[in-house]
Amino acid sequence: NPARAAAHLTGRDHLYVDGAWVAPAGTGVIEVTDPTTEEVIGTVPAGEAADVDAAVRAARAAFGPWSALPAATRAAHLGRLLDALTSRAPLIATTVARELGTPLKVATRVQAGLPLAVLKSYVSLAATAEATEEVGNSLVVREPVGVVGAITPWNYPLHQVVAKVGAALAAGCTVVVKPAELTPLTAYLLFDAAHEAGLPPGVLNLVTGTGPVVGAALAGHPDVDMVSFTGSTATGAHVSRAAADRIARVALELGGKSANVILDDADLARAVKVGVGNCLLNSGQTCTAWTRMLVPRDRYGEAVALAASMAAGYALGDPFDEATRLGPLVSAGQRERVRGYLAKGVADGARVVCGGLDADVPAKGYFVAPTVLADVHPDSVVAQEEIFGPVLAVLAYDDEDEAVAIANNSRYGLAGAVWSGDPERALRVARRLRTGAVDINGGAFNPLAPFGGYKQSGIGRELGAHGLAEFQQIKAIQR
Ligand code: ADP
Repeated sequence: NPARAAAHLTGRDHLYVDGAWVAPAGTGVIEVTDPTTEEVIGTVPAGEAADVDAAVRAARAAFGPWSALPAATRAAHLGRLLDALTSRAPLIATTVARELGTPLKVATRVQAGLPLAVLKSYVSLAATAEATEEVGNSLVVREPVGVVGAITPWNYPLHQVVAKVGAALAAGCTVVVKPAELTPLTAYLLFDAAHEAGLPPGVLNLVTGTGPVVGAALAGHPDVDMVSFTGSTATGAHVSRAAADRIARVALELGGKSANVILDDADLARAVKVGVGNCLLNSGQTCTAWTRMLVPRDRYGEAVALAASMAAGYALGDPFDEATRLGPLVSAGQRERVRGYLAKGVADGARVVCGGLDADVPAKGYFVAPTVLADVHPDSVVAQEEIFGPVLAVLAYDDEDEAVAIANNSRYGLAGAVWSGDPERALRVARRLRTGAVDINGGAFNPLAPFGGYKQSGIGRELGAHGLAEFQQIKAIQR
């Protein structure tokens, strides 16, 4: 495949600290594997606590001058960073396609396109980040929180970093980034861009490494004022505990089990088509994925058949092949996890109407076939736990109240969808869902909309003005 051959990548052997590429303290490395070929692409440093110390020191030293810059100057820096990153868009897409396995077309549109849109929004928001308010005799001002530790997952390797870094820098904070160990090469591209853009030294630092070493050192570091974490709920609880001793601020973006509520007056065909696409995006490795499709009982058979035929049309293969619509999962470990859930689903009585454990998949690569499970009980494991694979559960409901109850029967509360021919009714149902976001009749990604979870899906918001405010302190000055 010529596209794959052209996307040649190697590992990296430096960290980025205080505006320079520096050698790590130790000699340990982490291998990065291409999940399609199962071959090692290269290695990145397995950073140590000493590397975190050096990066936090640099971020602390840079914080004073960076936060003292006029907001417009910080916005101009972010604009140069955006330009440098934009010129790397094709490389971002191919890097994600190689280390994560996202089909190149999707990687271009989503994995590269989304973070560029988000960073662009922060270029504008940075200019107004210091807006003040008058309340009675008080002047209320916003100030940056300080040094931020950003710990990110592998599923959207650039977007997750940019969502934090864009907001933090716009607010006047400085940042140490710890990207996920499965997909660190994409994060390096942001630092190449930062170097080219001439961000002041220490404002943005990179320490790669494992969660238990570098992530834990960053979350527990006495001089880190805020930890912004995206990942699993279990690890989020760890990070939260590590920050609690020193009362450091945390922002947590965690798991999800979103419901796609298709009401009886909806365009069923469209709702199912978009719903299946949403669930399978990035091989289902998306925290907002609408993994539970809720359908009126009298249209259940029709919806299940439609969903199965839609999902069956998603061709598995090499992310660099034009025809591929679904790549592999990120790792052998994730594939085994997902396969475990499929076995459990069947044991609990779910009916496999597409895909499943016995379906044909390419011999090489960490593939799981797109799978639709019918007759899923709302309390069963596959309806309750985040699977993070290409697996859709279809559930039946009898009336609107029951649909809302099933949707809210989850420890998560990240996102969801409502489909209806009646906009008022759709809005009413959307407001009853205990989640941080709801898309009506498909919605469309809005980089200015606040993003975050209710319940065990997290604390705080990313993106837009609310995302920026997360990185600010509020001071009241009475006069
Ligand atoms: P996943 O299970 O999807 O890999 P995690 O929540 O484990 O998600 O990982 C998200 C990020 O958190 C990764 O960068 C990972 O290295 C990091 N991490 C893992 N364990 C810890 C920890 N104990 N403290 C801080 N960060 C961690």
